[in-house]
Amino acid sequence: MMTHRAISILCVLPDQWRDYYLDTFRESLPHARFFTPDDAPVPEDITYAFVLQPPHGYLARFPNLKAIMPVGAGVEHVLADDALPDVPVIRMIQPDMAQRMSEYIVQHALNHLRRLRQIQAAQARSEWKLFVCPAATEVTVGILGLGRLGMHAAGYLSAVGFRVRGWARTPKPDCDFPAFAGRSELPAFLSECDVLVSLLPFTPDTSGLIDEKFLSLLNPGASIINASRGGIIRDEDLMASLNSGHISEATLDAFAIEPLPASHPYWSHPKVTVTPHCASAALAEAVADRMQVIIETIESGGTPSPVVDRASGY
Ligand code: NDP
Repeated sequence: MMTHRAISILCVLPDQWRDYYLDTFRESLPHARFFTPDDAPVPEDITYAFVLQPPHGYLARFPNLKAIMPVGAGVEHVLADDALPDVPVIRMIQPDMAQRMSEYIVQHALNHLRRLRQIQAAQARSEWKLFVCPAATEVTVGILGLGRLGMHAAGYLSAVGFRVRGWARTPKPDCDFPAFAGRSELPAFLSECDVLVSLLPFTPDTSGLIDEKFLSLLNPGASIINASRGGIIRDEDLMASLNSGHISEATLDAFAIEPLPASHPYWSHPKVTVTPHCASAALAEAVADRMQVIIETIESGGTPSPVVDRASGY
């Protein structure tokens, strides 16, 4: 149950998301009052902010903020604000987010394994052709990022039979698959990857991580699945690796600029599958439930988790 005191929540959302979230929030949290910037709320009244790409400096206008809740799992769009109020930034972790992300990862890893793009291209030519594919047990999937999503995906990929390995910032001694940590272990991690999955947050450390040198360390013919953030990949380097054949195909869900501009070469590249940042969307009902837990925890004197570590950027 939401606390009896009226809580005023500011929602800063792009037009296409506003009604989707606000309609559900108003139904699910009837005791709270929701405002958008267009409502010109009294700054002192606002105690919580739910935001996606708020204009930089905007949140500093609200002196009584207790917490900032960014939409989705990525927080880079909020942390980029130099004037961000000094209150906890709380991640909107939802229970089914990892499930849906793992479905996406397994789907596309299997599509790559079973050469679905080539089979569909042959069908478009009415061409009956022999396709021989390795078994999942012969294929190594490397996961960049062993957080909530990476660890969950590792379990699902292993269940299908893939050989799994992972890379994170800090060592994972209890991992039941090979886990590598830090830049010094990156070449060893990459050296055996046939499929590379990115589930890293976008931070100053991971920006542009997947570049020409990085890609050259993957097995020839390796493929890429990026379900995290576009800025992690140097697009021109990936395009060059796809065109040379060193990288066989890529499934990309996130892009440096979203929506992906219609003129972008990824749209029509024969080796690229573009999905519109839908690997694991933040569903309004689940977000409302999470918002309620966060607010109740804070209003009763507790600290919800996870709180974003501003120093590491995630
Ligand atoms: P977590 O914070 O739980 O995990 C992040 C992982 O990345 C950790 O294992 C962390 O290492 C690792 N990491 C961070 N920085 C580095 C670095 N510099 N070098 C090596 N490893 C690093 O995040 P989630 O698993 O919840 O989410 C991951 C990302 O997925 C989100 O940030 C978001 O961008 C993306 N996402 C995309 C969605 C979509 O629909 N496309 C939906 C949801 C999320 P360590 O364990 O050592 O801390």
